[in-house]
Amino acid sequence: MAKSFRFSIFMFLLVFAASARAQEAPDWTNPFPPYRIIGNVYYVGSQGLASYLIATPQGNILINSNLEKSVPMIRESVEKLGFKFSDTKILLISHAHWDHCAGSAAVKELTGAKYMVMDADVPEIQAGGKGNFQYGDSPTSRYQPTKVDRILHDGDEVRLGDTVLVAHLTPGHTKGTTTWTMKVVDAGKTYNVVIVGSPNVNDGYKLVNNALYPQIASDYERMFRVLKSLPCDIFLGAHGGYYGMEAKYARMKEGAPNPFIDPEGYKSYIAEREETFRAEWAKQKAAAQ
Ligand SMILES: [Zn+2]
Repeated sequence: MAKSFRFSIFMFLLVFAASARAQEAPDWTNPFPPYRIIGNVYYVGSQGLASYLIATPQGNILINSNLEKSVPMIRESVEKLGFKFSDTKILLISHAHWDHCAGSAAVKELTGAKYMVMDADVPEIQAGGKGNFQYGDSPTSRYQPTKVDRILHDGDEVRLGDTVLVAHLTPGHTKGTTTWTMKVVDAGKTYNVVIVGSPNVNDGYKLVNNALYPQIASDYERMFRVLKSLPCDIFLGAHGGYYGMEAKYARMKEGAPNPFIDPEGYKSYIAEREETFRAEWAKQKAAAQ
């Protein structure tokens, strides 16, 4: 009796912890001051969830709509920078997880932006998160099903004004996780920007014998090959935590080198993430034997 009671408590805590994690981390909803990163690339996200505004003379591109409740905050950030939210012409995402895309229906509604999503993430986006190999059955990971206006394929370009973004398929974390690259000109110099989609193996991810995503491990390998091949000066990602956003923001000063120029930080982050993936994969392979 006592044992099964303890087990129930344990299960309760386990489920509670899992659903709390599936809901949100506190820093996801903490506001953060909007700022210009470099060139026409601006930060309009919260402390923990990155959103980027790419401003062009023909209107703006928003990358990541985040949580449904993030949308008013993103809008406020865009307006604080002096742009009109209604000038958002194109909406892109890092990957089909609710913390990067649950606000997309609201952004489309408010701005009329065209929603462009990588092919392998499209079914989930249009089903509101249903069908995700890891979280498909969890109600906290669901969001409003959202119509995709353009289906992207690996290597596709998204053009607006003088800006060209390239969609790189970097799968594993989701089947259609997308890493965005673009060139940006700042003070007469051209820089390569990389916005990493996510190289992370989440808690509970099955890298071996995953019936819903049999090729998950080889997809992670492909993703690391792609990330290592991308030239990177400006290192950004779906969460500020990937690239030490807050510390870099604190170091921004007039006349000082731009702290977001960090090719070495990019290389060592990708190397560390790949090592972590390979260690987890080896552990799961050993356990499966
Ligand atoms: Zn994710």
